[in-house]
Amino acid sequence: MTSLEKLIKKEPKGLVARAAKFSEKAHRGQKRKSGEPYFCHPKAVAEILTKWNLDEATIAAGFLHDIVEDTPATHDEVEKEFGKEVTFIVDGVTKLGQIKYRGEASKISARTKAENLRKLFLALSEDLRVVFVKLADRLHNMRTLDALPHNKQRRIALETDEIYAPLAYRLGMHNISGELRDLAFPYLHPVENEWLEKNVPEAYEERRRYLEKLKPEVEKILKENKIKPLSVDFRAKRFSSLYSKLLRYDMDLTRIYDLVALRIIVKSISECYATMGIIHSLWPPLPGRIKDYIAMPKPNGYRSIHTTIIAPENKFVEIQIRTEQMHDENENGIAAHWLYKVHGDPKNGKMPLPTSRLAQEVQWVQQLRNWQEKSESINTDPDAYINAMKIDIFKDRIFAVTPKGEVLDLPVGATPIDFAYQIHTDVGNSCVGAKINDKFVSLDHELRSGDVVQIITQAKKKPSASWLKIVKTTGARDKIRAALNQDRKSIGGNRAPTRADIKITAEDRLGLLKELTAIITRSHIYINDLKTVTHPGNNFPNVKVQCETADRKKLDKLLLKLKKVRGVREVGYTLS
Ligand code: MN
Repeated sequence: MTSLEKLIKKEPKGLVARAAKFSEKAHRGQKRKSGEPYFCHPKAVAEILTKWNLDEATIAAGFLHDIVEDTPATHDEVEKEFGKEVTFIVDGVTKLGQIKYRGEASKISARTKAENLRKLFLALSEDLRVVFVKLADRLHNMRTLDALPHNKQRRIALETDEIYAPLAYRLGMHNISGELRDLAFPYLHPVENEWLEKNVPEAYEERRRYLEKLKPEVEKILKENKIKPLSVDFRAKRFSSLYSKLLRYDMDLTRIYDLVALRIIVKSISECYATMGIIHSLWPPLPGRIKDYIAMPKPNGYRSIHTTIIAPENKFVEIQIRTEQMHDENENGIAAHWLYKVHGDPKNGKMPLPTSRLAQEVQWVQQLRNWQEKSESINTDPDAYINAMKIDIFKDRIFAVTPKGEVLDLPVGATPIDFAYQIHTDVGNSCVGAKINDKFVSLDHELRSGDVVQIITQAKKKPSASWLKIVKTTGARDKIRAALNQDRKSIGGNRAPTRADIKITAEDRLGLLKELTAIITRSHIYINDLKTVTHPGNNFPNVKVQCETADRKKLDKLLLKLKKVRGVREVGYTLS
């Protein structure tokens, strides 16, 4: 009996049991592509969530996650039956299901595109439990991807590799991230996968046999030093990460020392360091290969000691040393934090949440926050436990989507005009209207995360000055201003300056006017009119030049040149 089945049996009227029943009934008669009854899928998802030790609302949502989308059952029915919390998670998962990822080439780099999509994903989720259900959903779909047609397989595998696996990694869920990558790998790299399948198993096996012999020796010296590890076992490197490492090592398997690593789990941090010392006293470490991720965790929270030793027969072996808690967190990341919080009950064998864990949890949130460029000071409210599951890291940003599935990252309050300018200046300039999720909206409409925005353009349309009051991004504002200025220059009009009146005060002398006009002509400025005005009683006549230009840059340059002319006292101009 799986732990999910136990849970249902224990509380046959409980939330999870009722959700199971409801889901089975709603999906009755539906089949998966593989031919199995559809209910297998939500059940498997609920099982995964149970394994991750998530709370009942999340497990129930796992059972119900495809209900609103794929069955006649409605949002209201789910809410009436299971309450707001479960419905919120189900709705979140449904929303995420509508995001489409397309890896096709475009102006935005693939990396930015995937990153924006991951951000959209989190922003739409609002609650990490939504992400957990979606990850469990994807995990099961990947495990059963074989049943789908070829072209779909590739698309889903790509999406998994570029969106879901990195997302799980960000959340510290290495185990899930790694499995997702591995599952996607054969679909994305069939040739490479074949190579690995042909060449790796033997190397794995050889390495495993060797470690099998090493293991009792390790246990023996630890025992001699009064350390009783909780476990010593092997960890084979995953195909997907092995492949990217092999690329860096000329596809030479003998150089991958962590192809199979020895993993030692001990009781405390001090035992981690003691264990490393004892091992190094017997087998010297390979210089430069000691990595202390306990003192310096990876950005996603990963903690462990890694060292490569020179073991008997001069073989290099990677050893990973960590505590059980670290191991759990390394494998399950942010989910592990959640589980200690929800199940922080000594009765079911889990320790209650110590205060230090709260600090760690806040750290998780901080890591997510760091994702954002302008990170704010983190929320350290000790009551904000549940709030740790709230995804508010992107509360100043919204993520809107083009009809082609590209996600644009915009500030809150952004309008279709901001969106249009972010696509391209020309799209912004010629924008006349917008459709959001297929409905026409006004140009000052406030966009929301997940909105699919289609910009309607008209050739030769010019931006309007009133847009300056509507737009939220400086990018759009600058481009509108630039276009408006351009417009004045090319069309002319009454108000826009088109000519300059240059006034030069100089000592009159022979050849002065000739010299001045020559300089003006060399500046490629066309002279309309030139006259000399001499005021009575003034020794310095004014030369007035009217020119056909309003180009300030050009005029400023000209002024500098005119000032250098012998006899010139003052130079200035006005535009009209
Ligand atoms: Mn599903």
